[in-house]
Amino acid sequence: MPTDTPTSARKEKSAPQKAMEKLGLVRDIDLALHIPLRYEDETRITPIRDLRDGDIAQVEGVVSDCQIQFRPRRQLVVKLDDGSGELVLRFLNFYPNHQKTLAAGNRVRVRGEARGGFFGLEMVHPSFKSVDAETPLATALTPVYPTSATLPQAYLRKAIASGLQRADLGELIPPELLPRGSWNLRDSLRFLHHPTPDVSLGELEDKTHPAWQRLKFEELLAQQLSQLQAKNERALQRAPRFTVRAGGLQEKLLAALPFSLTAAQRRVVEEIALDLQREVPMHRLLQGDVGSGKTVVAALAAAIAMNEGWQCALMAPTEILAEQHFRKLVQWLEPLGIQTAWLTGSRKGKKRAEMLARVASGEAALVVGTHAVIQSEVQFARLGLAIIDEQHRFGVAQRLALRDKLEQQALEPHLLMMSATPIPRTLAMTLFADLDVSTIDELPPGRTPIVTKVFSDHKREGVIRTIAAEVAQGKQVYWVCPLIEESEKLDLQNATATHEQLSAALPGHSVGLLHGRMNATDKAAVMAQFTAGDMKVLVSTSVIEVGVDVPNASLMVIEHAERFGLSQLHQLRGRVGRGSVASVCVLLYTSPLSDTGKSRLKAMAETNDGFEIARRDLEIRGPGEFLGARQSGAPLLRFADLTLDEPLVHVARQAATRLLTSQPHVAEQHVARWLGSKAEFLKA
Ligand code: ADP
Ligand code: MG
Repeated sequence: MPTDTPTSARKEKSAPQKAMEKLGLVRDIDLALHIPLRYEDETRITPIRDLRDGDIAQVEGVVSDCQIQFRPRRQLVVKLDDGSGELVLRFLNFYPNHQKTLAAGNRVRVRGEARGGFFGLEMVHPSFKSVDAETPLATALTPVYPTSATLPQAYLRKAIASGLQRADLGELIPPELLPRGSWNLRDSLRFLHHPTPDVSLGELEDKTHPAWQRLKFEELLAQQLSQLQAKNERALQRAPRFTVRAGGLQEKLLAALPFSLTAAQRRVVEEIALDLQREVPMHRLLQGDVGSGKTVVAALAAAIAMNEGWQCALMAPTEILAEQHFRKLVQWLEPLGIQTAWLTGSRKGKKRAEMLARVASGEAALVVGTHAVIQSEVQFARLGLAIIDEQHRFGVAQRLALRDKLEQQALEPHLLMMSATPIPRTLAMTLFADLDVSTIDELPPGRTPIVTKVFSDHKREGVIRTIAAEVAQGKQVYWVCPLIEESEKLDLQNATATHEQLSAALPGHSVGLLHGRMNATDKAAVMAQFTAGDMKVLVSTSVIEVGVDVPNASLMVIEHAERFGLSQLHQLRGRVGRGSVASVCVLLYTSPLSDTGKSRLKAMAETNDGFEIARRDLEIRGPGEFLGARQSGAPLLRFADLTLDEPLVHVARQAATRLLTSQPHVAEQHVARWLGSKAEFLKA
C-alpha cells in the first residue's frame, strides 16, 4: 500500500500518480467527476448464522484457527467465529501479512461472497482488516472506482475523497435553467461518491436517481455549449461566396447527366447552393442511404465553386472509394473542361510531385484522393470547397488536420461532409449540434428493393447453386468474406479457399479475388474487370465495403455475417440493388449466434431503411461505439445515454442557448469545468 498521499509534492511522479494522469485525473474536478462503478456495503455487519449462499456481506468475529493446508494445493485456511456461527476463509494466494492479521485470537472484519463449501459456508479471498470492538462501521456505501492495474483502489479512493473536498463545486447554472426539482451539483457528487445506505441501488445502477440526473444534465449542457461555441466561432469566419450562374458549369453538368435528379437531390443541391452563397463557411452534413446518389450532389456543389475559379477537394477514407469517385467525376467533369488531380498515399515520386505542382498552381481545379489530400505538403492555390465522404470513418486526428488545413487561407473553404450512415436524431442534436444537415430521403427511381435472406452456413452448397443460376443469366455476384488468411483462432472461411471453390463451381466464368493485402494497381485491375462485366463473381474481404458501384450486380453473399457490425452489413448490402433487376442479399451465419449477432441479422432481414438500421445499431451498441469513437479516442458522453436521456438533451439544449446569450462567461466556466482540454476534440 502506498504511504504517500496524492497531494504530497514530489519531483518524481509516482506510478499511481502517472496512472491517474493517464485516466485523465489531473484537476480536483476531474477527481470529483470520477464516479464509482459500484459500491460495497460496509455499513452493516451480518451475523454468520444469517449468511446465505451467494450473499456478498461483511462479517466480524474472532479467528479461532489459522492454518496452512497443502492439499489439494497450498492454501491458507482460517476459521472465524462471531458467536452466532463459524465461517471458513480460504486464501489460495497469501503473504506473511495474511497470517499475521489472521492469527488465532485476532478480531477481524471480513467482506466477501459467501459460498456453500463442503464443510458449510466459506469465503474465498475475502477482503479483511483487523479491528477492535470500538472500530466504527462505515456510514456511507464504499465506492469502488474504475481504475487501472498500476493504480490501487485504496490510493484512488483517498485521492478522490480529497479531490472532492477541494474541488470548486459552486453552482454556476442559474436555477431557472435547471430541470425541475434538480439537486445541486455539490450534493449530487457527494452523494454519488458516498451514498447513504438507505439508497435504492436500482436507482443508482440505472442512473435515474436525482443525483445522476443532475450529473447527466451538467454533462449534456457542457457538450451543447461547446458545440454552440464552435458554431458561433465559425460564424465569425469568412468564406468565398459562390453564386449559381445561368449557363455556368453546374447547369452544363446537369444537362450532360444521363439521368435527371430526384426531388430529394434537387432539394439538397438547393440547400448547399444557398450555403455557398453566404460569406460564412458552410458546415453541412449530407446524409443519404447507400445508393441514394450523393456523388452527383457533390459534383454539382463542386461545379458551383469551380465555375467561380476556385478549387475543390474531395476526400474519401479508402483508396478504392476515392478512385470510384475520381473516375465518376472525371467522366462527368473533364468533358466540361475541368482539370483534375489524383492524390493518394500510394502515389509517390515524380508523378506525385507533378500533381502537387498542379494543385499548388491552381491548374487542377478538382483534387480527389484519400487523406493524402490534407497532408502538409499539399498546398492549394485557392481551395473553395472541401468535400469529405464517409466522414465518420476518418479519425479524430485526421479531422483536426483537416480543420487546420482549412484554416490556412485568408478565406476559409466551405465544408461538405457526406455519410451513408444516417445519424439518429438525438445524436445529431448532441454530438453534431453545430452541423447543418441535409438529407436525401429518396432513392433514384426504378430500383427494386433488396430481399435479404438469413441462412445457416449449412446451406452454403445451395447458395453456390443459386450463384451459378444467376451467372448463367448474365448477372453478377459479390461474395464477401471477413478475413483473408486462415486463422486458427477465428475459424473463418478464407477468401482464397472460397475463391477456388467458386472458380471450380463455375467453369467458363471469370471469378475474381479482392483483398486488403493487394496493392492498389492490382485492386484497380480487378475492380475494372468486374465493373466492365467481364468478371462475373467477385470474392472479396470487406474492402468493397463502401462506394463500389456496379448496377448489374444482383446477388450478394456475406459469409460469417454475424461477425460484421450492423451498419457495415447495411453498407455492404447497398452494393447490390443499384439497377432495375431484383436483388438478393444472403447472410450466412455460423452457430452459435450471440444475442447481439442475432439482433443484427434480424434487423437486416426486417428493414432496408438506413435510418431504421442506424436506430437499431445505436440501440444494440450504444452511441460510443456507434461513432467508432472507441478507436479514435474521442471523449464522448460519459454519463448521459442518448437513447435513454432524450428529454434531458432537450432541456440541456434550451439551457445552452439561453446561457450563451445571457451569461456567456458562465457558459465558458461551465465548459472549462467539464471538458477542460478536451473541448478542442469535441469540435473536431
Ligand atoms: P451513394 O449515395 O451511395 O454515394 P452514388 O452517388 O454512388 O450513391 O449513386 C448510386 C448510383 O445511382 C450511381 O450509379 C449514380 O450514378 C446513380 N444515380 C444517382 N442519382 C441518380 C438519379 N437521380 N437517377 C438515376 N440514377 C442516379
Ligand atoms: Mg457514395
